[in-house]
Amino acid sequence: MPATPAWPPSSLPRLYVEQVLEQNAAVTLEGAPANYLVNVLRLTAGAQVKLFDDRTGEWLAEIIEAGRKRVALRIVAHLREREPVPDLWLLFAPIKRGRIDWIAEKACELGIARLAPVLTRRTIVDRVNCERLRAHMIEAAEQCERTALPQMSEPVKLEALLQDWPADRNLLFADEQGGEPLAAAAAKPGPAAILIGPEGGFTDEERTAIRAVPQAVPVSLGPRILRADTAAIAAISLWMAAAGDWGKAPTR
Ligand code: SAM
Repeated sequence: MPATPAWPPSSLPRLYVEQVLEQNAAVTLEGAPANYLVNVLRLTAGAQVKLFDDRTGEWLAEIIEAGRKRVALRIVAHLREREPVPDLWLLFAPIKRGRIDWIAEKACELGIARLAPVLTRRTIVDRVNCERLRAHMIEAAEQCERTALPQMSEPVKLEALLQDWPADRNLLFADEQGGEPLAAAAAKPGPAAILIGPEGGFTDEERTAIRAVPQAVPVSLGPRILRADTAAIAAISLWMAAAGDWGKAPTR
């Protein structure tokens, strides 16, 4: 007997919307999302798409009217609740544009709960475009089928971050001078954050200040010195496999 095809098909276009969604709600898309649906995908009235709002989960919507600049849709069914997200923050010293965008995209796909730029002594980038990073995370969430977006924090100085460090959160500090293997440190229960230094590394004073935080654990990512972006993605992957939700199958 032929297998019953999945409904709705997993190949439907999937978009994030700011509007809080509910059954039968009318949704209007303009600008880039409307252009994508009508001019790129050539969808017309009657076509279906998936929408998610980061609050109520994922919904099936039908296009009612497909104008070149404006698309009207109606919500027809609730597909999934908003997912629980593993409580892992990525704290990273900003690096140059292409690579920081790549970190945002991949960190979202891998499952983080928050992305937080941290300004250290050797950080060479003085301005972080949080809106652009959030846009990259939204695009990644649309593609990887997340129903919950990672939070985007404003940049914060390392000293301020350490002063206000939450008592219940483990601080896994990727130290190129060595530490506990990250996969072992991730086994410590509770919310966690991974801290990755800039291309020039942490200064000795910064390393001392971080180690003075009671929740801080210096962790190693092996014998090679990784680029900051590689270190961030490797560290998230190790944590997710040890303490995150990688034991689950894809939700579609
Ligand atoms: N310039 C530094 C040096 O030569 O020692 C290297 C800095 S590395 C490019 C950027 C950041 O990635 C480091 O601050 C650290 O957080 C992380 N990192 C890279 N390789 C690592 C490793 N093997 N173990 C732990 N952390 C590492």
